Amino acid sequence: MPEGDTIHYAANRIRPVLEGVVPDEVRTPHPRFGRDRWPQRLAGRRVESVDALGKHLFLRFEGDLVIHSHLRMTGSWGVHPLGQRWKRAPRRAWLVVRAGDVEVVQFDGPILELMTAGRVRADQRIRGLGPDILAEEGLDEARFLRRLREDDPTRTIGDALLDQRTIAGLGTVWRTEACWAARIDPHRTTQAVADEEVLEAVRSIGPRMQRSAKDGTQNRGRTCYGLRGKPCGRCGTKIRSGHLGDDNRPVYWCPGCQD
Ligand SMILES: [Zn+2]
Repeated sequence: MPEGDTIHYAANRIRPVLEGVVPDEVRTPHPRFGRDRWPQRLAGRRVESVDALGKHLFLRFEGDLVIHSHLRMTGSWGVHPLGQRWKRAPRRAWLVVRAGDVEVVQFDGPILELMTAGRVRADQRIRGLGPDILAEEGLDEARFLRRLREDDPTRTIGDALLDQRTIAGLGTVWRTEACWAARIDPHRTTQAVADEEVLEAVRSIGPRMQRSAKDGTQNRGRTCYGLRGKPCGRCGTKIRSGHLGDDNRPVYWCPGCQD
């Protein structure tokens, strides 16, 4: 599941390949881009930086052009030596950027667009993002709490933690892990959760997400997500699962020690 750590991990792998480099080739195999002429518009331009913000990834080219990507539930990034078999079928590649003998590929990209840097800055989807849990300087906790408390207090905490305007980077896996770590039932409303509790929740997963952003180990060491019917590692009660929030996203919790 692409969450902030997945995207930062992708950026960390793409950066050494593309940053400071003029790509040898840019291809947009998907028919949707047939008339957009990305290869021509990006030809000869150096990649100035590769960065991630929450679940968004940006390839910034000289001349103020930016490729903006968001994978939603389905997309993925791959970094492959030329000639290596890709992890998804070639027809699912939307973007291929080659530098020397390495290809950076975006598959099944629901949001993939070429924008000017000015448009990126003005874009509400990006401007409205809350503080990034994976920010290099650390999560801005004060801003996170402010955003959380400005929001509807009757919303469940499990749902609120998915709101990218409150905190950027969490998805269904990490919100579940965060609530378990802080013994918070994700169905509790935010008004019934103290600041210290919610900070404990995000602090507990921050280092794990940072590790995953470095080495791609999101699936390792899960304590609650995906473990329905298994005994809780803390109290032995069987973990339950359900759906939560407007988007009806999956959630897991231990009824024994989370309340
Ligand atoms: Zn438990």
